[in-house]
Amino acid sequence: MHRTVAFSRSAVNVFFHILTACNLKCRHCYINPEQHGKNSLDPATIRNWLAAFNPRHKKANVIFLGGEPTLHPGLPGAVRDARRLGYHSVTIDTNGYLFNDILEKVTPGQVDVISFSLDGAVAETNDRIRGKGSFKACLEGIARARAAGFSTSLIYTVSNLNLDELSRMPELLEKTGIEHFFIQVIGLRGPWAEKDHPAGTAPRQVAASRWLEVVPRVARQAAARGIIVTYPKVYLEPDEPFECAGLVAENYFVFPNGRVYRCPLCEDYPLHSLEFADDRLVARPGITEARLFNLSIAEGCVMNKLIQPQNLACNGRENPRHRIACCMLKEEIIPD
Ligand code: SF4
Ligand code: SF4
Repeated sequence: MHRTVAFSRSAVNVFFHILTACNLKCRHCYINPEQHGKNSLDPATIRNWLAAFNPRHKKANVIFLGGEPTLHPGLPGAVRDARRLGYHSVTIDTNGYLFNDILEKVTPGQVDVISFSLDGAVAETNDRIRGKGSFKACLEGIARARAAGFSTSLIYTVSNLNLDELSRMPELLEKTGIEHFFIQVIGLRGPWAEKDHPAGTAPRQVAASRWLEVVPRVARQAAARGIIVTYPKVYLEPDEPFECAGLVAENYFVFPNGRVYRCPLCEDYPLHSLEFADDRLVARPGITEARLFNLSIAEGCVMNKLIQPQNLACNGRENPRHRIACCMLKEEIIPD
């Protein structure tokens, strides 16, 4: 079954960066310590912030992120706190190194999914992007997590450094036993984006034609092997309505310096619409991302137009060739 996943109005998704430190230095890392802080949250703060999203009120899902969240010795306690507070699902996103014996300190009953990141089908490609030894560490981490009974997913961030290798992923995924494959699009976010992308260029992003030619095909191939596949919509069909998740969904991107964003594309700027003050979640006044969500433009997503206008092409009548979907809008293929 192939479908576009509509934004849920009845769920709360908390993307919780409990620290920003990491053992890797991936070339496309979006963590920006200037904007997100360099601190690691203490266990009581994590608990208070988790509680602030009223997890019993709506179906709430938390995704623990970093940096590398398993570097945080308080992660097992945070997982248990999330469960006690009533979170419906708990996910840990990891680069695969699985520090602090995390697999021995949490159980498959507490953690719904451990999600791994890999950016190549072979070590050479992946390690060029994510660092030497990271391919091997990730595959070993997946094997250990599966042996311990955890459900696993894998995130592959597509850029022109690894698009050609995407078609080799379904075979690797089947071998490793991954149940859910997330294909992600590289965003111009994080400190590297400024450095590597002189104004008006986007050398690491793939052209629309290449994305549309390769990604849906590989997604179908992975699904044919029994794997659930999710990938961003990116380009809206001419008759498809545009919706901004900032207006219709409850996604919160929480950083250890207390900033809380509703839109991931805003994370490089002090545009967060919410923040934690004395462990209370409060709205920020003034110009924030919330002011942008209501803007209706021909190109679709307003933040995409502001931060990466170079990937918008026009047709001969100066209309945008594609409207850009909200980055949170996904396509999903569930194997028959
Ligand atoms: S593993 Fe994640 S947090 Fe660490 S450097 Fe890579 S992208 Fe950044
Ligand atoms: S990516 Fe664009 S459409 Fe989606 S929440 Fe952000 S501003 Fe709104």
